[in-house]
Amino acid sequence: MIDEVLLCSDLDRTILPNGSQEESPEARPRLRILAAHDRVVVAYVSGRHQKLLKEAIREYAIPVPNYAIGDVGTTVYEISGNKWHPWQAWADEIAPDWQGLQGSHLNKLLKDIDHLTLQEPDKQNTFKLSYYVPIDIDRHALLDRVGERLNRHGVHASVIWSVDELKGIGLLDVLPEHATKLHAIQFLMQRKGFAPDETVFAGDSGNDLPVLTSGLQAVLVKNASDEVQREALARVEETGQRTQLYLAEGGFLGMNGNYAAGVLEGLAHFLPETVEWMHGDSLLAERRF
Ligand SMILES: [Mg+2]
Repeated sequence: MIDEVLLCSDLDRTILPNGSQEESPEARPRLRILAAHDRVVVAYVSGRHQKLLKEAIREYAIPVPNYAIGDVGTTVYEISGNKWHPWQAWADEIAPDWQGLQGSHLNKLLKDIDHLTLQEPDKQNTFKLSYYVPIDIDRHALLDRVGERLNRHGVHASVIWSVDELKGIGLLDVLPEHATKLHAIQFLMQRKGFAPDETVFAGDSGNDLPVLTSGLQAVLVKNASDEVQREALARVEETGQRTQLYLAEGGFLGMNGNYAAGVLEGLAHFLPETVEWMHGDSLLAERRF
């Protein structure tokens, strides 16, 4: 018998229906009912910063979570009422990677390196240093150069390359080595007393793969690309953890398995007792109208 459930989920195209596939109309109403249950604890795990997290919650009418792991794992908020408190224990956990330095200090160490254009202030934080980079440069050489420079100063950082497809520009993020989504979730579990069998993670894309294939109970929503599905399956098969990954198929409570429907389907797969927490008077009321 489980005590409480920790539902950790990515937002964009996992809970938020902002992809090209259809969302079942009942998916988010059911998620809201589930999240209101007193034995459910919700943590969002996202690349978004605080302001964009709050915008998503408002715009898509999704539940206010108990915790938010934001900025690609560099900040964790505890939320009570509508107050967001940065969780100091997490800052203390990742600060040693950077030898007590902050993003602004690291920027000074890197400032003579070509092609790095600092992103806007709201995209930076104490433990996140983010640059725009021309999309057509030799990114491996650049990543090596940045990595070497930081190493020389004893800074343990992940240097991550991604692409903003919409703007056609490269993005380079410098993060503490331990500031990953996976480590943040494990830290939350450990500090707040959630056992692995009480915890489920949901995601949809490549940056969720480390958590999806970590051995935690995890669900890949149905709207994930074939490529991500294949990669996730290959990794869990290789590590003998196939049973820890659930691929949403659709059909659960008449929903299609995309986005929040897939999250609920996966939760029900691992923790069947939660199914009855997804039904409620408020949903019936919404359906009646
Ligand atoms: Mg996503």
